[in-house]
This record gives sequence, C-alpha cells and structure tokens, in this order.
Amino acid sequence: MKRPQDIQLQEQTRHNKAICVMSIIDDAIDLAEKLGNHELTKGCLCYRCITKRKRMLFPPMKKWKYQL
Ligand SMILES: [Zn+2]
Repeated sequence: MKRPQDIQLQEQTRHNKAICVMSIIDDAIDLAEKLGNHELTKGCLCYRCITKRKRMLFPPMKKWKYQL
C-alpha cells in the first residue's frame, strides 16, 4: 500500500520528466529553425538531424498494412 506522500512524489517526478522531455524537444526544434536547411551532421542535436538518424536506425514501414 502506497502512502499519499509517495503517490504525490511519484506524480511530481513524472511531471518533471515530462517538462524535461518537452523542453528538449522545444530546444531541438528551435535549433533546427536557427540552422535552417542543412545536411545530416554527426553530433547535431537539431530536430531534423535527430529525425533523420532515427529513420536510419528504424526505417518506416515500407508497405501499408491497410489500403484506403
Ligand atoms: Zn542538424
């Protein structure tokens, strides 16, 4: 059985983590806007390069499972 203080602390920790992740994404988008159109750069933390790296590691599904 969890104490109310523990639940409150858990909620606060989850909230702080969410704020941290959102600020990282915001910073990455700001950096991408600042740098503009550029090639994939090693170590670049802009949103564009992060997305490109992610797509290289986990390619999107080639064939759609469902047809319209
Ligand atoms: Zn970049």
